Amino acid sequence: MTTLQDCQQLDAQDPLRDLRDLFTLPDATIYLDGNSLGVMPAAAPARVADVVTREWGTDLIQSWNKNGWFAMPQKVGDKIARLIGAAPGTVVATDSTSVNLFKVLSAALHLAAADAPQRQRIVSERSNFPTDLYIAEALCKERGYELVLVEPEEIAGALNDQVAVLMLTHVNYRTGALHDMPAVTAAAHAAGALMVWDLAHSAGAVPVDLTGAGADYAVGCGYKYLNGGPGAPAFVWVNPKHADRFWQPLAGWWGHATPFEFTPDYRPAPGITRYQCGTQPMISLAALECGVDTLLAAEAQGGMTALRSKSLALTDLFIQLVEERCAGHGLGLATPREHAQRGSQVCLTRDEGAYAIVQALIARGVVGDYRAGDGGRHKDILRFGFTPLYIGFVDVWNAVEHLKQVLETAEWKRPEFNRKHAVT
Ligand SMILES: *Cc1c(COP(=O)(O)O)cnc(C)c1O
Repeated sequence: MTTLQDCQQLDAQDPLRDLRDLFTLPDATIYLDGNSLGVMPAAAPARVADVVTREWGTDLIQSWNKNGWFAMPQKVGDKIARLIGAAPGTVVATDSTSVNLFKVLSAALHLAAADAPQRQRIVSERSNFPTDLYIAEALCKERGYELVLVEPEEIAGALNDQVAVLMLTHVNYRTGALHDMPAVTAAAHAAGALMVWDLAHSAGAVPVDLTGAGADYAVGCGYKYLNGGPGAPAFVWVNPKHADRFWQPLAGWWGHATPFEFTPDYRPAPGITRYQCGTQPMISLAALECGVDTLLAAEAQGGMTALRSKSLALTDLFIQLVEERCAGHGLGLATPREHAQRGSQVCLTRDEGAYAIVQALIARGVVGDYRAGDGGRHKDILRFGFTPLYIGFVDVWNAVEHLKQVLETAEWKRPEFNRKHAVT
């Protein structure tokens, strides 16, 4: 049996412990929702205030040059590149994940059509995050393609000579299951398909090596594990061997080779810059840079490899403590136990009351979230994200203690915890 003292000792020995000071954590809160909205970096308010009052307020239009605004998407993109195994100059921080996915899927379909026009399908997982599926569905309608949705174990069988693109999210938002990126990418390529990865739940959460895996396209989210703030710009990566072959369809002036010549015709910039569309949100990019810097601050202590070890230790501990201390309360585990198949979150299932239990926990300061089941394969889940930058082992102990009390006292049955909010 693991004890509170064991957890205190794990915190005392944790080499990443001081990274927590890079964040402003609310009092009396154990924040297990960094997979949905990362915690505010302590540096963010002053940085954002400086962008507003000095760069915007005083320097005004000169800031595009003087304060490096024009190059911000590339500058922040280069920092994100260090977290995902991408070369400098191959990532831009821009637009939203949904929009970037549209760009890369469209480019991938053009690329596939040039080499193998009979390939008219995009394959994805039925339990992929809905916006990814909606974007793919819309693009397929637009272009006369077919979107084929399968379960994870059916992916290999679905890869045939009709498939142009395999589009997957690296870590499943609902179960926390992690795909083997090199193996799945190799399987797609062996079948003649291009590979598009969504890193929304993996950039900053697990080590990613896009270059090593030989992936073709990737997008990811700025406000989850990258701690970039609500609605932070997302990012996009294209394998350099493909970047110059096609335009992406949102060919705005920020993707032009010479935007300030104001020519009437479009000439795409070389490389990833052509994946930009229009003017970017500088205040949000500045906040995102603060968020990415919190992850780069871990580089001195081993970077993503060290963060990954701690993340697995935290999620192992959470699973173990839930099983030891909350046994008999009807909780199940939706997240794989195998390290190689687990992201940085743990999802518990319960046939009844999953939403209300999460609400009761939030009232106690333990912030996770709830995702509804689909009435079939996927049950309702209580979802807990573990961000090793600011979550410690005693936090895990305390979170499980609260969960135990909420279940033992049936506190979750109170009416106020059973009223649904718009955002769950
Ligand atoms: C969070 C998330 C998104 C978010 O997309 P937005 O365009 O930022 O709303 C997209 N895809 C996945 C897989 C996600 O987890």
